[in-house]
Amino acid sequence: MSRIIVVTSGKGGVGKSTSSANLGMALAKLGRKVVLVDADFGLRNLDLLLGLENRVVYTALEVIGRECKLDQALVKDKRQPNLSLLAAPQTRNKTAITAAHMKALVEVLSRYFDYVLVDCPAGIETGFQNAIAGAKEAIIVTTPEISAVRDADRVIGLLEANRIKDIKLIINRLRPAMIQNNDMMGVEDVLEILSVKLLGVIPEDEQVIVSTNKGEPLVLAEKLISAGQAYMNTAMRLDGKAVEFMDLSVRKQSFLARLGRFFQGKP
Ligand code: ADP
Ligand code: MG
Repeated sequence: MSRIIVVTSGKGGVGKSTSSANLGMALAKLGRKVVLVDADFGLRNLDLLLGLENRVVYTALEVIGRECKLDQALVKDKRQPNLSLLAAPQTRNKTAITAAHMKALVEVLSRYFDYVLVDCPAGIETGFQNAIAGAKEAIIVTTPEISAVRDADRVIGLLEANRIKDIKLIINRLRPAMIQNNDMMGVEDVLEILSVKLLGVIPEDEQVIVSTNKGEPLVLAEKLISAGQAYMNTAMRLDGKAVEFMDLSVRKQSFLARLGRFFQGKP
């Protein structure tokens, strides 16, 4: 059974594209056939994050306009052949593409791939409506900031109104030291506001920025640490594997200690 999953958020800049690229690459590493669909039209994101920008010839726009065949527009990753990308058109003329087009597109893709991951643009307008069309599941990305969490809550409501009930959460850019000093919301605080299933917790990690600049998602590395390991664990959970998760019922202090060990990849 193929899965069509939209990666979305309320607030922009919280790590949707970073999460899409890393989850896609991680699932491919796990042996799944994955296509990443960049639905952030007008802005090219995923091709850059994956280092595939020079190989993009056609995009979703040409496929929808029947100017090329679907397989001509799919860019296969050389490092990880299980991963393909359908890039976003650079045009800002978003009216050319409708939700019906996007729904048809992801449904065709789902015949050939185990996972269709759709990277959503910021906002809740046309681009959002297009990106969620056809999705059966959603991954919400938020940072542990009140504005991002509040916007995520609003988007969860919108997803449910659009009959997407299977919603999972990634909390990104967590900084354990700040949580300890009560300067940042912790995982439990976020989960108290957003009652959706926790899929992953990704620490703040400057290697994310390095990997973005290199066009190499962190999970590509042979030895995974920090955010790279956290993304791999998240992908394994998404794929149905029971990966050790921090026990959220323990006291805050020991929870943080466990969180620290978790991020260092120690048992
Ligand atoms: P979005 O797609 O939601 O707009 P991006 O994935 O483009 O967000 O990320 C926005 C910025 O945040 C990028 O510069 C990215 O490198 C940075 N970033 C994302 N996640 C992390 C992280 N865990 N640690 C450090 N920087 C991060
Ligand atoms: Mg993005």
